[in-house]
Amino acid sequence: MKIAYVSYEVSPYAKAGGLADVAGALPIYLKKAGAESYVIMPFHKTIENNFDVSQFKLVKENLVTDSHSYKGPFSVYQSYLPNSDVKIYFIKTDQLFDSKNIYDEDNIFLKTSFFCDASLKTIKEIEPDTNVINVNDWHTSLIPVYLKTNYYEDVLLRKKATVLTIHNIGYQGLFESNVLSIAGLPSYLFNMEALEFYGKVNILKGGIMFSDVINTVSPTYAKEIQTKEYGFGLEGILKIRSDDLYGILNGIDYSIYNPLTDPYIFYPIKTYEDKLKNKRKLQEYCKLPQKNNTSIISFIGRLYEQKGVDLMTNMIKYLLLADVQFVLLGTGNETYEHFFKSLENEFPKKVSINITFDTDLAQKIYAGSDIFLMPSRYEPCGLGQMYSMRYGTIPVVRYTGGLQDTVLEFDPVSKAGTGFGFYEYSESALLYTTLKAIYYHQKKKDDWKILFKNCMSADFSYEKTAKEYIELYKKAMAKKS
Ligand code: ADP
Repeated sequence: MKIAYVSYEVSPYAKAGGLADVAGALPIYLKKAGAESYVIMPFHKTIENNFDVSQFKLVKENLVTDSHSYKGPFSVYQSYLPNSDVKIYFIKTDQLFDSKNIYDEDNIFLKTSFFCDASLKTIKEIEPDTNVINVNDWHTSLIPVYLKTNYYEDVLLRKKATVLTIHNIGYQGLFESNVLSIAGLPSYLFNMEALEFYGKVNILKGGIMFSDVINTVSPTYAKEIQTKEYGFGLEGILKIRSDDLYGILNGIDYSIYNPLTDPYIFYPIKTYEDKLKNKRKLQEYCKLPQKNNTSIISFIGRLYEQKGVDLMTNMIKYLLLADVQFVLLGTGNETYEHFFKSLENEFPKKVSINITFDTDLAQKIYAGSDIFLMPSRYEPCGLGQMYSMRYGTIPVVRYTGGLQDTVLEFDPVSKAGTGFGFYEYSESALLYTTLKAIYYHQKKKDDWKILFKNCMSADFSYEKTAKEYIELYKKAMAKKS
């Protein structure tokens, strides 16, 4: 079995969120589990600034897409995912993929649709024996659409099975109907049975309608997106395709996120005392008083409503009445950025706000905090809670999507469990649950140490995830035979 994993972002080459982490890790574990796999991504300009691209091998040049109106030409460069023999192909063309922010809205349809058609050409030219193409989110969702329309009679491409992985249904790629001609796709696709969605073209809808199999990144989210509350308007067609819809929990890469070897944390963590050493260093780094008993509560993530940031802004001043320090790392909505910056000015001894994207600092925070907040409105899988557990930081989450599938409520009688959670989307529920965690941290030290151990021994490794994906690929391939 040979898998093409096609993604607009891949860690460490270009990362905006959780998709990059999955794309940079899953193919390695697929290969370990016996499925040959490789990755395709755009040669974003930012890669040139951050990597020694002279090491990349030029595999093909002067390629031209068969359908797309942008005629490139494009080249394909090849390197490897770090510390592995999994190939990654970069699609390079002079005038696209040049923005600082890879999801910059300027020409985003042109770039993503070109990337889809160019990926198919790459597969045809360089990896013709590929069996399954795993596309991810709306940016690569035109691949199954091309395959079932323009390339339906292509003897090589028509045999490729497709899997669409939905990492976040909140982003669908909505455009005016005239974009179809840019992609070189037939105008009849602007139809309710295909890509039309309330007068617009909806690219993710195309992916859902035309892929052989669909999955999302946790079992709970797979159920949730079939409801009005979580489906963002696509719940109806997901219900139609529910026989082909699966939920597979993401893993985290234990070889990178390893508290014993992680070069970005202050001290390796094996015991609770090691954790406290990291905590003191984090306090120093964040210019906060070095107090052991004070609970460090942290948040790392995009500052948008999806992440429950509105709940945090509404409850944070009440939380600060307790003996806590609050450390935030994130970027996003400017109103939230300003809110937190002024909070830091008001409470400089209790609050550290870091409005930046900094993966090194993220590790230090995962390692040095006591409690990690993830009060998401919705959360397809969520990685932050898994990273925090891995470094012995206890998560407080809203039980939704992958948060529900990964965090187990602490039971003071059996001592089982890895965190604390709530269901109702309200600031009072978040405040109450965080105060409960603080109570355990400050007053129930023995239970806290058990929680620390339970979290650090929870298993979110990729081996299990990879096996489930291989089963999924078999289902997709069965549809082609
Ligand atoms: P999403 O993909 O919705 O943004 P996830 O929890 O799945 O959320 O993944 C977010 C990933 O991005 C995590 O690895 C998290 O540590 C990282 N991250 C988010 N914001 C920042 C930031 N400002 N600096 C460093 N890493 C960040």
